[in-house]
Amino acid sequence: MRRKLAAGNWKMNGLTTQLVELDNILKSNENPAVDLLICPPATLIASAAKHARGSAMMIGGQDCHVNLSGAHTGDISAEMLRDSGALAVILGHSERRQDHNETDQIVCKKTQTAMENGLISVVCLGESLEQRESGETLQVIGAQLAGSVPDCATSDTLVIAYEPIWAIGTGLVPSLEQIAEVHDFIREKLTERFGTDMANGVRILYGGSVKPDNAAEIFGVSNVDGALVGGASLSAQDFCPIISALE
Ligand code: PEP
Repeated sequence: MRRKLAAGNWKMNGLTTQLVELDNILKSNENPAVDLLICPPATLIASAAKHARGSAMMIGGQDCHVNLSGAHTGDISAEMLRDSGALAVILGHSERRQDHNETDQIVCKKTQTAMENGLISVVCLGESLEQRESGETLQVIGAQLAGSVPDCATSDTLVIAYEPIWAIGTGLVPSLEQIAEVHDFIREKLTERFGTDMANGVRILYGGSVKPDNAAEIFGVSNVDGALVGGASLSAQDFCPIISALE
């Protein structure tokens, strides 16, 4: 049985004053059966991890370097994330694929490094609107999945987030049938590659404009094991109803 996961991606948002929202989320959360993960900007990881210590909330990073150390100004390694108290990392988010030219191959190397250093990896996949409209969605998702997930992945270290690029931060959400089709497809492809036991243990999150008012119906879709939430994870007021919608 897969435990549900509610993950928040704070992106480049949040000063130290924002950390109070972690306490608010923990205070207001009424659903202990759900795993929680908040990925604040790197500047807040160590303090966030202190806030979350002893609670059901994990803290994660939003990226890591392929290497563990060296001459890579501005980058952060998987080992550094662990050292700061992070237990997970988001990899291959479409904003990083776009802004930093991250290919599947780079995402795969980062994911392998993250896994080898004890971090749960939330690997993001998603099609553009153009790809969706030209009927290429499953082909794109299949190629990203095959190219971005390393062979060392296990059901404990891998989480997949399906995030259609056109749904991120736009208020647009695919139909429930479209979400089901992609999530079922991802499960099928994981089964083909890693076998049933492993594939059935991997959480597949939906991400893209998840809000308190659409969370319950999205979570009712087959093979949706939780959400990766951007904007609505910045306040307990929005995030807690989303957690509660994960039955
Ligand atoms: C995201 O960036 O991962 C995301 C899903 O953003 P939003 O919820 O704001 O659409």
